[in-house]
Amino acid sequence: MAVDYLTLDRTGDKMPLRGFGCWKIEKKDAENTIYQAIKIGYRLFDGACDYGNEVEVGRGINKAIKEGLVKREELFIVTKLWNTFHSKQHVRTAFDRQLKDWGLEYFDLYLIHFPIPLQYVDPAVSYPPEWYVPHADKLNFERSPIHECWAEMEKLVQAKLTRNIGVANFNCQAILDLLSYSKIKPAVLQIEIHPLLPQERLVKWVQEQGIQVTAYSSFGPTSYVDLCESGKTYSSLLANADVKSIANKHNVNTGQILLRYALDRNIAVIPKSVHEDRMKSNLDILNIQLDQDDRKILNSLKTNQRFNDPMIFGFGLPLFD
Ligand code: NAD
Repeated sequence: MAVDYLTLDRTGDKMPLRGFGCWKIEKKDAENTIYQAIKIGYRLFDGACDYGNEVEVGRGINKAIKEGLVKREELFIVTKLWNTFHSKQHVRTAFDRQLKDWGLEYFDLYLIHFPIPLQYVDPAVSYPPEWYVPHADKLNFERSPIHECWAEMEKLVQAKLTRNIGVANFNCQAILDLLSYSKIKPAVLQIEIHPLLPQERLVKWVQEQGIQVTAYSSFGPTSYVDLCESGKTYSSLLANADVKSIANKHNVNTGQILLRYALDRNIAVIPKSVHEDRMKSNLDILNIQLDQDDRKILNSLKTNQRFNDPMIFGFGLPLFD
């Protein structure tokens, strides 16, 4: 059988290559969607404080465990620290709330969501806090260095509350800095990757550091249609004629080709769907074999268009420059 996991440094944990993303799953649908996803065969779930559905996602997971569909140790649960909780006095409290919300005893992987320390917002005032403090019209930063935040992340590992820690949306410079002081190296980098934005240089370097890579937004603009202008105007990769021709050749759908494209680069994927047929087909990608011609076509789609960018969301923050 084809290998369907990536091995993480330090713990040797096997992180499934094919996971399930929880962003934009409405609270009312989340419990059932996650329960169905487990039934269909998903074992990795990718959540975040910012997705506002951790309680409901956790309910779906616990229902499946309680009914004996799966054991906790067979699941790989990922979630993320939000930007407003970077300071050393807030990481542990934020984490504890998330763990309680999921109804779990530990996470498999806890990521810093963005290298962006934002002013603390009391969860009693607003939760999830999102980007702006209440009533502000611009981002308010906080003087919380990543090295202090990372030391708190390491304490979570030492306390056996998360098996692995990692980062999302960090660039080479931010990771280089992190590697210069970390006692526990990040196990995973989660970033936007699709044929328009392959990030091949970053991926290669990060993998050389022994850090595994997870791709988000594998379908490109699909999730950003209502979030930014380029999400609206960019034509869908799922409907792209070149991707379609490859899909037809392999007798699969375009989503499967876009996911397989990442797997072929030893990159894990976390597509999100609430439709059972898509949930199934997004998982059914292990036996697709892209050839050199396919890869050439997919590589030619590169435009370096990024969709998850605090600059184009109107926050005026050129994070990736
Ligand atoms: P995605 O690329 O998985 O696209 C999801 C959209 O595509 C949904 O609208 C869904 O209905 C549709 N879709 C799914 N499967 C399909 C199929 N087979 N055919 C046609 N349409 C299909 O995008 P995403 O939600 O941006 O990313 C996936 C996950 O990555 C998120 O749920 C989240 O967990 C994670 N994520 C992380 C970050 C981060 O900053 N770390 C940012 C974005 C997403």
